[in-house]
Amino acid sequence: MVKKDAVIIGTGPAGISASLYLLRAGFSVMIVGMDGSALEKAEKIENYYGLAHPVSGRELLETGRKQAAALGGELVHDEVVGIVWHDGGFTVSMSRQKTDTRSVVIATGSPRRSVKIENLAELEGRGVSYCAVCDAFFYRGREVAVLGAGEYALHEVTELVDIASHVTVLTNGEEPTAPFPGRVAVIKTPVKRLLGADGLEGILLSDGRRIPAEGLFVALGSAGGSDLAKKLGLALVNNKIVVDRSMATALPGVFAAGDCIDGIQQVATAVAEGAVAGMSAIRFLRGKG
Ligand SMILES: Cc1cc2nc3c(=O)[nH]c(=O)nc-3n(C[C@H](O)[C@H](O)[C@H](O)COP(=O)(O)OP(=O)(O)OC[C@H]3O[C@@H](n4cnc5c(N)ncnc54)[C@H](O)[C@@H]3O)c2cc1C
Repeated sequence: MVKKDAVIIGTGPAGISASLYLLRAGFSVMIVGMDGSALEKAEKIENYYGLAHPVSGRELLETGRKQAAALGGELVHDEVVGIVWHDGGFTVSMSRQKTDTRSVVIATGSPRRSVKIENLAELEGRGVSYCAVCDAFFYRGREVAVLGAGEYALHEVTELVDIASHVTVLTNGEEPTAPFPGRVAVIKTPVKRLLGADGLEGILLSDGRRIPAEGLFVALGSAGGSDLAKKLGLALVNNKIVVDRSMATALPGVFAAGDCIDGIQQVATAVAEGAVAGMSAIRFLRGKG
């Protein structure tokens, strides 16, 4: 597997801005993103520097992505579903490929998905997990469930299926969009409540059925920045990734910028934070981090 100097997750203003610095410093950069940047929804931007006339959010995104590509950036349209740290770097898993990298910039924008299931928050860390790679081992030979319907949920299922005694996918009312293996039961009925106080004892569905599970792995929609941060054991406050002034997280080589960190959610701040993250990644890659 070819190892990149940097993988940037997110092709919005923060991720693209980080890439411009890394690319111009001569590093190999993969920039992975999907549709769904907040900027796609902005009809007119007129509060960003240098715009003589208002432009649409989509136009600004397109120009930024072309700029990164012109500098040699490898733009990949894919969903990042997992990330692991190991000695010497990181492996970033996407729905269609994996890549090794020396550094990572998380620029995934604001989390879009949240779920209201009774007792879910109370059982976090006591049966409810956000990382199959990290926690699957604790559930060997036990019954588990995965909450989700897409590629991200499939990634978690793949990590669990040979370890747990049985895996059930709970789509919580959604149509499944990923090819789940045949030996996994897929249930579309919405989830009402998680049972148990000190640990997960089962899952109650809205039709009154009870699904036996000692572990529930949450993988709704696509992985947001906070989900990826949890996989790396990074700190979150109000679901935002904690960084210092250089946009560095507590894990050397991992940086975050834009709407996925705390602050003003604007193009100008996303671009500025992306620039700082890019420059900090350069320092790290040059061994001065
Ligand atoms: C309706 C609306 C109007 C706005 N108007 C203005 C305005 O007038 N002026 C202004 O300054 N700001 C405006 N904003 C805010 C601005 O759009 C955001 O602050 C800015 O886009 C944040 O940039 P970002 O790069 O952090 O995140 P985003 O632009 O949201 O980009 C996030 C990127 O991460 C990718 N991503 C997420 N998860 C994954 C994953 N698992 N795998 C791969 N890729 C992933 C997404 O596909 C996307 O490419 C507006 C926002 C909205 C919603």
